[in-house]
Amino acid sequence: MESALYIVSTPIGNLKDITLRAIEVLKDIDFVACEDTRVTSFLLSQYEIKKELISLNAVNENKKLDYVLSRIEHGESCALCSDAGTPGISDPGVRLISAAIRRQLTVIPIPGVTAAIAAISASGLPTDSFLFEGFLPQKKGRQKKLKELSEIDKTIILYESTYRIEKLLEELNEHMPHRQITVARELTKKFEEFWRGKPGDLLEQLKDRTTKGEFVVIISPLSWREHI
Ligand code: SAM
Repeated sequence: MESALYIVSTPIGNLKDITLRAIEVLKDIDFVACEDTRVTSFLLSQYEIKKELISLNAVNENKKLDYVLSRIEHGESCALCSDAGTPGISDPGVRLISAAIRRQLTVIPIPGVTAAIAAISASGLPTDSFLFEGFLPQKKGRQKKLKELSEIDKTIILYESTYRIEKLLEELNEHMPHRQITVARELTKKFEEFWRGKPGDLLEQLKDRTTKGEFVVIISPLSWREHI
């Protein structure tokens, strides 16, 4: 196969959400650079693939860059995988990809699932123009960012964890109480569900709901009014 860095998207829950092309690339590749070798090794075992795995995460990305890229320069092919979804999207990989481009190596995307796109596609909110913000800063700058977002007239996509989803809904209730929100929980998994309503409604509904799992939060544009 062509010597290159292949950006391989993997499932975000349902193991059937991998493309035929991704499986083909993972079978043919020389080695895989991945966020967590245990996660990727489990994934590969589901498709009966055995490969050399190199850990490449937010902490060691700079250190491992040179090693991975010099192997590609010497003719090998490398797949970049994150724990779930598309590498580089709120995940490690961007520094490796930029450095590969600077060294004039071939970078080939093998597209697949991204939680943000799966969530907005079923949100019922406008998709013509949207802002992907990923995770909000945890402490410093969080309130400033929320204020900035409250003035933006676009659909906004946020990622949030089980630990802060309730806090985020409280903050949205404070900063943008009139916006329509879709919360996508546990996409593609057994307990997938969508919560829809204004932040205050969702906080009310939380009394009967679990906040366990992974979440994408979609916020309607400032001037958007739901059509009947
Ligand atoms: N690279 C991934 C992608 O392409 O979507 C995102 C990785 S980021 C570290 C993990 C966050 O993505 C989670 O905290 C959650 O906000 C979102 N996420 C990932 N999988 C999800 C799922 N199955 N359902 C809902 N949100 C998910």
